[in-house]
Amino acid sequence: MNEETLKIPQATAKRLPLYYRFIQNLHNAGKQRVSSAELSEAVKVDSATIRRDFSYFGALGKKGYGYNVNYLLSFFRKTLDQDEVTKVALIGVGNLGTAFLNYNFLKNNNTKIEIAFDIDKNKVGKKIGQVHIYDLSELQSRLIEENISIAILTVPAEVAQSITDSILETSIKGILNFTPARLNVPSSIRVHHIDLAVELQALVYFLKHYPNDTENSQDETN
Ligand code: ATP
Repeated sequence: MNEETLKIPQATAKRLPLYYRFIQNLHNAGKQRVSSAELSEAVKVDSATIRRDFSYFGALGKKGYGYNVNYLLSFFRKTLDQDEVTKVALIGVGNLGTAFLNYNFLKNNNTKIEIAFDIDKNKVGKKIGQVHIYDLSELQSRLIEENISIAILTVPAEVAQSITDSILETSIKGILNFTPARLNVPSSIRVHHIDLAVELQALVYFLKHYPNDTENSQDETN
């Protein structure tokens, strides 16, 4: 994201890609304007939150008119750096990593896995989808050469920290960590943590303890 988003609260920033996807659909369908109630229904975020989020970037809807779709679209495209593809590296081509390599992230946003790494000799040298798998010994040099800014970690938890340490001095600015390990990084690097087992466990807990809580039935914090 570019500098303009720095003043936006993080919770709002996290919802921007969600809004962007829906606004894109509206634009493609030829719609000129959208109300916060319509947006709310589609993205499952309450309309007061949407109005507050949008007010941060100066999109002030008019009563009885709503928001201008073209304005929103150009704002999101600029703010989310959609005019530029962000290059991503995947480290650890196991079951989860393989699924990511087969998934077309470009379908919904401008990120692309350019390159993958593993230590398994049976995987190194092969290609999954369009992505080459390289030996881990080439990690730093290739990240720098290709100017990769994001790393997805799908390695065993035990090696997550040492791999993280080894990419600190490269072009990497953000890590999407799918391992259960909590990572120590300097403040110049941002880590987002997605632990699928923990998410499942939390869902099981909520189903059991809040079975009738329909008001808060969508978790928008992630
Ligand atoms: P698989 O069935 O292929 O083993 P998995 O997801 O169950 O997949 P994991 O043990 O989680 O297996 O390992 C994920 C991947 O990370 C594997 O391809 C493994 O070879 C790779 N890997 C293990 N250690 C490292 C490391 N230090 N650096 C890079 N990749 C590694």
